Amino acid sequence: MSQSMIPAAKPIIGDEEREAVDRVLRSGMIAQGPEVATFEKEFAEILVDGQTCVAVNSGTSGLHLGLLAAGVGPGDEVIVPSFTFAATANSVALTGATPVFADIEPDFYCLDPESVRAAITPRTKAIMPVHLYGHPANMAALQKLADEHDLLLFEDAAQAHGAMLDGRRVGSFGTFAMFSLYPTKNMTSGEGGMVSCATEDIARNVRLLRNQGMERQYANEVIGFNARMTDVHAAIGRVQLTKVEGWTATRRSNADFLSAHLEGVVVPAVAPGATHVYHQYTIRVSEDRDRVVQALREEHGVGCGVYYPIPNHRLESLAHFAPDLHLPRTEEAAAQVISLPVHPSLSAEDLDRIVTSVNSVVKAGA
Ligand SMILES: *Cc1c(COP(=O)(O)O)cnc(C)c1O
Repeated sequence: MSQSMIPAAKPIIGDEEREAVDRVLRSGMIAQGPEVATFEKEFAEILVDGQTCVAVNSGTSGLHLGLLAAGVGPGDEVIVPSFTFAATANSVALTGATPVFADIEPDFYCLDPESVRAAITPRTKAIMPVHLYGHPANMAALQKLADEHDLLLFEDAAQAHGAMLDGRRVGSFGTFAMFSLYPTKNMTSGEGGMVSCATEDIARNVRLLRNQGMERQYANEVIGFNARMTDVHAAIGRVQLTKVEGWTATRRSNADFLSAHLEGVVVPAVAPGATHVYHQYTIRVSEDRDRVVQALREEHGVGCGVYYPIPNHRLESLAHFAPDLHLPRTEEAAAQVISLPVHPSLSAEDLDRIVTSVNSVVKAGA
């Protein structure tokens, strides 16, 4: 392979992020402090229509603490997609509750409300959709189901900073929502997560759980974790927050270019009223997916990924929750999807090369 590899994802760290880190390090105040508090306020204003936000040390902590804050625990069931990163179901299992897996809508890869309805039992406490790849889940139908059955609704928005549904931001639908700030996500703080909370009660519970159960020093009210974000990470996140809308616009125009020029593959669909923020640009191929991935990587230098090759209900770690479950659309997607580079650092030549490479590899296999 003579040409350089186009990376599947690329965090963008500029001078402003470096200067912000340096400013915090020089201040000598490094642990959770004023930068975190300001980051929470700015994140709320820019990304979740002003809901109260609480910063934590990872997206996974955000899910875990959000679930605990909403009262999820042993004996409860929470319905989640199986077609997602394992952190979604892991966080449910870590509370002592049982993750119950439902199938997806094949066009948008997010929870199918009909499959959710079929999974409801007397123990169901909540539904936690994932806005997978940056496409919003079908929140109107899920909210209706939640209302009918007296269930809570949460959001795993790890991949969906800025995504919208009918003019409303994801992260403002659920009792709580979590955004990941891991380096490959649409914006980063290094590691980190942000919990968007529907009520002050939930926000207070998340704040307590993040800091050993304390709001006031050494007046511990409940048993909690150390899941605090540092001011160093918050300073990075604050700078990224000023750039994420521009990056999203570039992701969306990169996606439009790919969809206009790719041939012989299924390109991403967008539901009516939805704004997709393309954390991933995911196509489907009907032939041998692994051959296509290997050819793209090894012969064409196109760094593509498979998210996710094994559905959660088939993972060694989680399969015991659903030993005989068959989710046909999840299993088909897991066998067919390929995510192509769509990140904002791609050049016009990179985009051309991705299109030419995919079209030739797919044509050769037809
Ligand atoms: C990344 C991710 C998480 C976990 O976030 P971390 O910040 O890595 O802990 C959870 N759910 C989904 C869907 C993710 O993509």
